[in-house]
Amino acid sequence: MAKIKITFPDGSQHAYEKGATPSEIAQSISDGLARSVIVAKLDGKMVDLTRPLEKGGTLVLLKPTDPEGLDALRHSCAHLLAHAVKRLYPKALPTLGPPVEHGFYYDFDKLDISNEDLPRIEAEMRKIAKEHVRSERIEHTDKAEALRTYAKNPYKVEMIKGFEEGSSSYRHGDFQDLCRGPHVPDSGVFEKAGFKLDKIAGAYWRGKSENTMLTRIYGLCFATKKELDAFLAQREEAEKRDHRKLGREHELVMFHEYSPGSPFFLFKGAVLYNELLAFVREEYAQRGYREVVTPLVYDKALWETSGHWEHYREDMFMLEIDGREFSLKPMNCPSHCLIYKNSAKSYRDLPLRIADFAPLHRNELKGVLSGLTRVRKFSQDDSHTFCAEEQLEAEIVGLLAFTKHVYEEVFHFDYSLALSTRPEKFMGDKKLWDKAEKLLAKTLDKQGMPYTVNEGDGAFYGPKIDIGIKDALGREWQLATIQLDFQLPLRFGLEYEGGDGQRHTPIMIHKAILGSLERFIGILIEHYAAKFPLWLSPVQARVVTIADRHRPYAEDVARALRQQGLRVEVDSRGETTSKKIREAQLDQVNYILVVGDKELADGTVNVRTRDGKVHGTKRYGKLADELAAEAKARK
Ligand SMILES: [Zn+2]
Ligand SMILES: [Zn+2]
Repeated sequence: MAKIKITFPDGSQHAYEKGATPSEIAQSISDGLARSVIVAKLDGKMVDLTRPLEKGGTLVLLKPTDPEGLDALRHSCAHLLAHAVKRLYPKALPTLGPPVEHGFYYDFDKLDISNEDLPRIEAEMRKIAKEHVRSERIEHTDKAEALRTYAKNPYKVEMIKGFEEGSSSYRHGDFQDLCRGPHVPDSGVFEKAGFKLDKIAGAYWRGKSENTMLTRIYGLCFATKKELDAFLAQREEAEKRDHRKLGREHELVMFHEYSPGSPFFLFKGAVLYNELLAFVREEYAQRGYREVVTPLVYDKALWETSGHWEHYREDMFMLEIDGREFSLKPMNCPSHCLIYKNSAKSYRDLPLRIADFAPLHRNELKGVLSGLTRVRKFSQDDSHTFCAEEQLEAEIVGLLAFTKHVYEEVFHFDYSLALSTRPEKFMGDKKLWDKAEKLLAKTLDKQGMPYTVNEGDGAFYGPKIDIGIKDALGREWQLATIQLDFQLPLRFGLEYEGGDGQRHTPIMIHKAILGSLERFIGILIEHYAAKFPLWLSPVQARVVTIADRHRPYAEDVARALRQQGLRVEVDSRGETTSKKIREAQLDQVNYILVVGDKELADGTVNVRTRDGKVHGTKRYGKLADELAAEAKARK
């Protein structure tokens, strides 16, 4: 019998008889492995476990925990769904069922169902899983034969006609479907996997509105039930915390059809916005940044110089004024180059760190706009540092320390760094690129900050460091960026006189730490579930009266706290004290100060926190000092 040579991912090699299946190969290694693998990959091509191998090659045996294994599992789950649908609704016409993030979908014609029908379909899927139906691959070498097989399904007929090469089908007991594969070997795999039908949506055949509207069933599918449960719990928590929902409930932010993608920060949301600005401005003062206030509308000549006209025009809002073409600025960098050029610079003027919170406008497609995370109008904690090459290291050290302070000491985020290096299409001197990349890597090492390298992922104008955070739900967000730019200074002809009396081109560093303030606030709302720390909190304290006669005293208390810069409200409505306390807790007010006869007589307040803890009475003057100190420390 002829032999084939199989190479495993660890480099080891074994000979097997020609026609051996990946399943048999797995079995020859161990029973445990054979039980856990669901598909295989031979020389980069996905194959079923039951496929007899006619030739050798590199064989990867995949489990549901491997990304490609998970895709195959999800795709097979789509077929399991179609199988169940065909059993329950024999007239339904299956079309396509690909894997997607978190699961799969399958589109059907002639299937009139609602979300209420999903449990019944899911139960049928579980029944088929219990039946351990084996899947069998059928090759259609004869197109006419394939067309005959699917003659009753015009969608499959259209697909078969479109295939250049032959097609294949999978038979699962009483159900057969056109498919390229691979599939899990046996529906019993779904007794262990975690799956759940999620929702129904409408979808046009091939995504084109002139075509028939199909019924799309979405399903979730994970390697294990435990992973499915963890996903469902996280999604439920994320829905509770959705910043659009909490933004409405807590009167933080609103949107209006008259200005799509442009958030209105309401009274409480504006507090968050301004507190973040004040925080960044305090940091700037400590770190030698200088703020400017700049125009929003610029002649297209600026964008021609910067290169945005050529590469970014689609994303810019255009205006016509006095017969000239203008645009709203999508970023600050070019305007800061104009500021740099406003006066002659010598090495003594560098590094020059220009900060700007100007509103930026980017013409994002209306369909992708979403809450605070995808907007058309936003501001950044943006800055541009112009420095000499020999100052670069110190600047990077300073920027990393700044980032670390904000993420670690103020927001207590889990964060990670990535260094992106020279892409294939780059501009500028290769030697300068190499030197800068080495410098960034060396600086990160020296700071003891671990990072990953994204080879070739830098911008065309320079390498960059991206910093991502993990929020309270473990979701990752990319926020901060530190980007070197060798090009823009050249395009604008920026120069400085060096110590050597010669003209030099400065290096530009773009940085944002919070990134878009709008997006950052959206993330914060969800991260804190609107339970903001004292310094950010829109209402830091609420004085609650027991009876109407305590109102003047409550106003005295509020005044004393406000004098310390605290944001205080008085609730002297004729409601019960317990109801007023409960509402303050729901509003996420940090401190609830109850005043009655005893407190009035003693000059005290009875302090509670929003978590329901009672902290006892305190003289209100002393409390005002303590709260002011707590807010100032941004703990
Ligand atoms: Zn398939
Ligand atoms: Zn920039």
